[in-house]
Amino acid sequence: MNHSQNEQLMARKAAATPRGVGVMGTFFADHAENAELWDVEGRRFLDFAGGIAVMNTGHRHPKVIAAIEAQLKRFTHTCYQVVPYEGYIALAEQLNALTPGRHAKKTAFFSTGAEAIENAVKIARAHTKRAGVIAFGGAFHGRSMFAVALTGKVQPYKAGFGPFPPEIYHAPFPAEGTSLAEMQKAVQHLFKADIEASRVAAIVFEPVQGEGGFNVIQAEALRWLRALCDEHGIVLIADEVQTGFGRTGRLFAMEHFPEVLPDILVSAKSLAAGLPLSAVTGRAEIMDAPAPGGLGGTYAGNPLAIAAAHAVIGVMHDEQLPARGQALGDRLKAVLNELRAAVPQIVDVRGLGAMVAVEFNRTGTDEPDAAFTKQVQAEALQRGLILLSCGVNANVIRFLFPLTIPDVHFAEAIAILQASLRAAAASA
Ligand code: PMP
Repeated sequence: MNHSQNEQLMARKAAATPRGVGVMGTFFADHAENAELWDVEGRRFLDFAGGIAVMNTGHRHPKVIAAIEAQLKRFTHTCYQVVPYEGYIALAEQLNALTPGRHAKKTAFFSTGAEAIENAVKIARAHTKRAGVIAFGGAFHGRSMFAVALTGKVQPYKAGFGPFPPEIYHAPFPAEGTSLAEMQKAVQHLFKADIEASRVAAIVFEPVQGEGGFNVIQAEALRWLRALCDEHGIVLIADEVQTGFGRTGRLFAMEHFPEVLPDILVSAKSLAAGLPLSAVTGRAEIMDAPAPGGLGGTYAGNPLAIAAAHAVIGVMHDEQLPARGQALGDRLKAVLNELRAAVPQIVDVRGLGAMVAVEFNRTGTDEPDAAFTKQVQAEALQRGLILLSCGVNANVIRFLFPLTIPDVHFAEAIAILQASLRAAAASA
């Protein structure tokens, strides 16, 4: 039998790599440019996944590539803790200035989102000398042992991997449109049943839950959490790994909630356009709690990734990408809302800026329709558009297109999306 290149690679993948590293498609990347991606057989796709929210500045932005190339010619690694370099400090200065709040801040760099989240908790524990951490149902904070314990979704992230570190508690996420009282009651109950407030080091939240379904936090809930943290000396940690770097129409999603400042803000993903880099930015006095040597890592703040991040910040500013994201997100929301009549499975269109999602239920019910969601994804893929799903019930499609996407490609993707939704509705 004559197998295609993609089929041959799928067979090798199955034989050589564990099934736990699941992949969405059945095709393999060859090259990519801005919002376009080609597979090894020359098939072209529009990329509305962006490597899971990493490519806000698009694939191979010329300024990002130039910055990486320039750094490649100087050095690729010294380990910052052995021989430091200015780029690390300059990027920390940038993030200290660009993240919300004018107070004194410091930033430490790591490689992955999970690693940054874990270090944010370590810093909060060192500062408060307390153990407890509160996170939320539906949250995603990563796959390493502590980050996955913070994650509020069992399948597929936690199943079979326990026991998890102790002193982690989950409350219901106070998304827009849900009951704030329910979360308040749950947190008060935690303080009665599980842990006293004076032993809680940190509350960790996503301003918009990413993997959990693009659920936007209620502004009022955030104000309540801030007041709770102030009352009990708890460190409030905003996980902006997915919401950061222009995705929500602002550089950081917390700018949508100007009355609430997090004590620590964690960023990663689009920060360095695909090079592994994450950052923990926080109040200077909190960040300085761990002793020298307590933070870091061999690759943490890798010079190539730092160079890429400097270029990303420049591109965000020069091309006004947060504002462009807001405009594109508004267009996409309008298209999805117009389709509601033709696609009765659509029960919600939501998000902030370009962090847009559409949710599907079985027609006329409040049962989440994961099968329909998969069908939409498959229809789109067949027409050359890569879409990702999300949501605790796997019934949400999220859109993570590059904010640099040319108008013509955005229009092409919208047309594919419309056709795919109509086709899925017709066959349901
Ligand atoms: N936090 C959030 C909000 C995320 O979306 C993710 C990744 N999807 C992570 C943390 C973990 O990041 P990483 O995969 O780089 O460890």
